[in-house]
Amino acid sequence: MAISGSQSSLREANRALIVDTIKKFGGLTQVELVAATGLSPATISTIVKELLGGGIVDTQSTTRSGRRAQMVTLARRVGLVAGVQFGHRHLKVALGDFGRTVVAEQTMPLPVDHRSDTGLDRAALLVVELLERVGAPIDELLTIGLTVPAPVDVSTGEISVHGIMRGWDGQQLGQVLSERLARPVVVDNDANAAALAEHELGAGRGYQDVVFVRMSYSTGAGIMLGGHLHRGFAGTAGEIGHVQVDPRGDICRCGNRGCLDTVVSSTALLDLLRGSHGDLTLRDLVSRALAGDLGCRRVLADAGERIGGVVATLAGTLNPQLVVVGGELAAAGEVIVEPLRQAVLRHVAPNTVAPLEVVPGELGEQAEVTGALLLALRATDVASDYETISAPPDDPSSPERTDRTASATLPAPAPERDTT
Ligand SMILES: [Zn+2]
Repeated sequence: MAISGSQSSLREANRALIVDTIKKFGGLTQVELVAATGLSPATISTIVKELLGGGIVDTQSTTRSGRRAQMVTLARRVGLVAGVQFGHRHLKVALGDFGRTVVAEQTMPLPVDHRSDTGLDRAALLVVELLERVGAPIDELLTIGLTVPAPVDVSTGEISVHGIMRGWDGQQLGQVLSERLARPVVVDNDANAAALAEHELGAGRGYQDVVFVRMSYSTGAGIMLGGHLHRGFAGTAGEIGHVQVDPRGDICRCGNRGCLDTVVSSTALLDLLRGSHGDLTLRDLVSRALAGDLGCRRVLADAGERIGGVVATLAGTLNPQLVVVGGELAAAGEVIVEPLRQAVLRHVAPNTVAPLEVVPGELGEQAEVTGALLLALRATDVASDYETISAPPDDPSSPERTDRTASATLPAPAPERDTT
């Protein structure tokens, strides 16, 4: 039966919608696909069969409401993405697939004040090493998500406030890493990435308006409004570390005076303890606080209160439903989260519709690299690459994925009747 042009393009559109929906959620049953796309069960069934035949999706048994069901995920064959997270003292790289499974991960320490050229070299080498570890050729890698602890202009991949990451300013970071790996790279701020991860997979699931507070070597926030990341024009939205809390305070790395970061950065917190506790690391501070050390608990509690005061202003302006608290310092749990919560709630006008909640993150120190993977998955247009990857893997007539005639070998589905 001949398929008319409009039917054929409707079929393409439905297929793209299904592939995009699976990508967005990581994996869905066919019943869930019906609900998420508005297409009929018959259409979903036909297209999923077709995608299975083309090696684009896999199915595996799962249970839903006590019944057995088939979970549909994008196939590993579609490719892998990499997440690269630069912290102040470490580099973390993860490989993930379109089912949102992390297939390999590695962390390495970095020297203080590491530089972009050597840092990005290490990241590229680590990505290649992880690909080798899982036996994947480099052409299985589709996109890389890169996060740094500084505000980023995502249109250029450049850090948009100089001085915050010395040795990284003025570089188009995405382009530099992209040249090393010959793959597209998306760059973002680490708090934004973590906000996205907590929103999709962690404590922020089901909420539309979420502020993620990242307390680490420095302090920042990622803002989700209406379910979307709000970065601001130059990527500096949520830079709470550079809100002034003390007009007579110290000069900050950013050039301003008395920023929150001059009071609660790791340097400032550890300075408070040097006389009484000697030289500690940020991890020492957290672990000693958890072990009951009163001085360390006091330092973290005061930091939580100080950060909470600034978060309250942000929450008063944006009216989020939820504040999620993460970053290395959040590992101290309620020692720091409770004073932060109290400070926020004390300053925010209480509404009766949806009282603001302040909760710890669920993803812990995985939030940033998970967000980097999600950013890479989002940036990969699987649906329009469909034809290039739809050739059966063992078809000798199409040795390369770039064979754009391959989709012609797919069986034609029944004419589409859905109008939704
Ligand atoms: Zn500052």
